[in-house]
Amino acid sequence: MLIENYESVLQEVRKACEKAGRNENEVSLIAVSKTKPVSDIQTLYDHGVRIFGENKVQELCDKYDSLPKDIQWHMIGHLQRNKVKYIIDKVALIHSVDSLRLAQTIQEEAKKKNVIANILIEVNVAEEESKFGLHCDEVLSLIQEISTFSNIRVQGLMTIAPYTENEEENRQYFRKLKKLAVDIKAKSIDNIHMDTLSMGMTGDYRTAIEEGATYVRVGTGIFGERNYKLKES
Ligand SMILES: *Cc1c(COP(=O)(O)O)cnc(C)c1O
Repeated sequence: MLIENYESVLQEVRKACEKAGRNENEVSLIAVSKTKPVSDIQTLYDHGVRIFGENKVQELCDKYDSLPKDIQWHMIGHLQRNKVKYIIDKVALIHSVDSLRLAQTIQEEAKKKNVIANILIEVNVAEEESKFGLHCDEVLSLIQEISTFSNIRVQGLMTIAPYTENEEENRQYFRKLKKLAVDIKAKSIDNIHMDTLSMGMTGDYRTAIEEGATYVRVGTGIFGERNYKLKES
């Protein structure tokens, strides 16, 4: 079932690209494997999938240790400063940077390990109380501060849109994130790239692609429902 699910999501990604007049290789599908066993990831890996997303540091590290080293791991969950050191040289991209203090820690740990950390700034476009991320009007000043950090590359922006049954409702948020990226890019700040937009999940990735997503993060649509009760750690 896993491979069929993956292939059908990929098919939908291609259709959305076509509908939007975009080249399909502008959009990468992240298979969000949080709470799912290593065996599921291995099955997809054997099918050729290399991009996986996790939201917990411990789980990401455990899976990193037990799976092939050419997997691109994406940290998509809220990141605590004291845990940055465990993942800094394991992940391809950190999607969830939303404070100067977190960026400072990433800078320090990246420097120690002599790596460049690729990050996205998480934006709470819909201004939901329950969510992490900056408001749109706070993003530019954070980016300006981070632009001086030698071991960080800001690649773009990320958002988690509200849960909805009707993905059309989230189009406004995706559009707003895209516009914010375009506006910041126009300022040509050193060290700041605004070409990566991580937006769209199982319920709304098609709309996100139409509005300019370059990464979509799909869990349920590939792996099926998650059962959090089995995993309390
Ligand atoms: C869990 C998660 C996803 C995937 O959600 P689905 O609705 O299962 O596709 C995407 N992004 C983030 C940040 C997540 O935590």
